[in-house]
Amino acid sequence: MTSTQHRAKQFQAIKGVRDILPPDTVLWNRVEQTAHEVFSTFGFGEIRLPIFEPTDLFARAVGGETDIVSKEMYTMPDQETAHIYALQRSLVEWDIKSGDFQAAESFQQLAVSLLVFIMRAQQENLVELEEAGLEAVNDLTSAAKELQVLISGRSGSAHAAIWNQVAGLVERIRLASGGLVVGDDLSLRPEATASVCRAYIEHGMQTLPGNVKLYYMGPMFRRERPQKGRYRQFYQIGAEVLGPSDAPGIDAEVIEMLLAFFERLKLKGAVLHINSIGDKNCRPAYVERLRAELQKVREQLGADSQRRIETNPLRVLDSKLEHEQGIIEKLPRIADHLCVECRAHYDEVKRQLVLRGITYQEDWRLVRGLDYYMRTTFEITAPGLGSQNAVCGGGRYDGLVELLGGPATTKGIGFAIGTDRLVLSLQESGAGEVSGGPARSAGGFDVYLAWFGAAAQTAAIGLARRLRDAGFVVELPAVEMKFGKSLGLADRLKARHAVILGEDELAAGVVAVKRLADGTQQKLAEQDLFSYLRAVRNG
Ligand code: ATP
Ligand code: MG
Repeated sequence: MTSTQHRAKQFQAIKGVRDILPPDTVLWNRVEQTAHEVFSTFGFGEIRLPIFEPTDLFARAVGGETDIVSKEMYTMPDQETAHIYALQRSLVEWDIKSGDFQAAESFQQLAVSLLVFIMRAQQENLVELEEAGLEAVNDLTSAAKELQVLISGRSGSAHAAIWNQVAGLVERIRLASGGLVVGDDLSLRPEATASVCRAYIEHGMQTLPGNVKLYYMGPMFRRERPQKGRYRQFYQIGAEVLGPSDAPGIDAEVIEMLLAFFERLKLKGAVLHINSIGDKNCRPAYVERLRAELQKVREQLGADSQRRIETNPLRVLDSKLEHEQGIIEKLPRIADHLCVECRAHYDEVKRQLVLRGITYQEDWRLVRGLDYYMRTTFEITAPGLGSQNAVCGGGRYDGLVELLGGPATTKGIGFAIGTDRLVLSLQESGAGEVSGGPARSAGGFDVYLAWFGAAAQTAAIGLARRLRDAGFVVELPAVEMKFGKSLGLADRLKARHAVILGEDELAAGVVAVKRLADGTQQKLAEQDLFSYLRAVRNG
């Protein structure tokens, strides 16, 4: 009989989620480092945000009707209050038969348990109840007390006459428990503008002088259909300007910063598309007009667009369907329906772009998928990305801070770059090569330090430390190897040099340096080794 061998289960990353490995991470770091450098020269400071937030924040900011919130968010109940939520559900769903005093008594005890857990959670500062919540808790408490008094010691001989009273109290408890919101529903962030605005309000940043300029970078999460350039965990680098001014010069400078960043990275073929989508004064009338026109051509549109006539007619303009293009081209354009203020703002944004030598393409169909945008919207496309060719989206969102409970005077504008797509485009165009020597870019080594004998190991450990302190990339074998095997490994690791340290070298106070590309070898004292390696590094 052979023993059955169970292979341990192998794991794979979740669908739509991926590992980013060396040497790609070298390019990612360069991209992020460049963002730090360029953005800081424009006076932006970095903000680090939580990866999860109350679901309500996104529902309110991004919009409950958007695809992002309605079907793409990763949402979960807060673990710390999940037990309280479970008790609430039990009370709400417990179906008590008429005259079942025993069940009513257990129900009462469950209500008391719920109150105890809520109290404990409050003491531990896990929950903070608002006025409505406190009222519900008070009601729950008094109903539970009354119910206890009513049924204590009576379950056996109780009179049918008091059952109505019991049932009434059970119902009161049920209602109070069902309406009580304890703790938060949490979601992984699908974007970060909502969080930046939340933080701006939470930390009273409106009292800071001038406009507040912040940038962030990190992962975002959306449950979308994975494809090239579209992942479920993807990365964004974004920036926001929040404060009292909505001067068009701010819009233009934000775009200028973005283009300076792309230029520093040597991104080729980036195209800036801009549009104005009006504000709450002029957009509603335009949307109605658009809806009316869409109704007339309804039958010629696809199912998605037909649905959007009701839910969000602007999004029809986004359609990529071949057969809808001719129809869309004939629809009314927002540019012809902007109010005086929006028109003036848009004209000035364009003038400010010209002042900065920035070329743009006006795209009247550029609308954004998030509810909070108004006036200026923009997008940057780059080559090499197939149909997911937008590397950056942005725009103005003057009402958002107020919508989240902040000062009504706060205006805002920002953008988010899709880092995955940016990296992809850089790689496709050949601008993804990383300077700074092949050792650093390829994860290769300047020096493979081969040592032979215990005394040589001690010397090698010291030499490796001094080389690394000087910035050289060093591989130091952890165990002693035969000469041929060790040098063979140096070759396979594509190290530039093998530095050989054996008893002879040790005795002579030198090392043997072998250039692996051509096999040339020389003996050098440590000082000369450093000069030699520096000369090679500086090319
Ligand atoms: P798209 O038109 O590609 O769906 P979007 O309008 O949903 O983009 P935003 O929410 O404005 O995009 O996000 C800004 C940028 O983030 C996009 O331009 C894109 O580069 C990137 N991005 C958005 N969703 C994803 C994703 N699922 N995977 C990778 N990058 C993404
Ligand atoms: Mg999208």
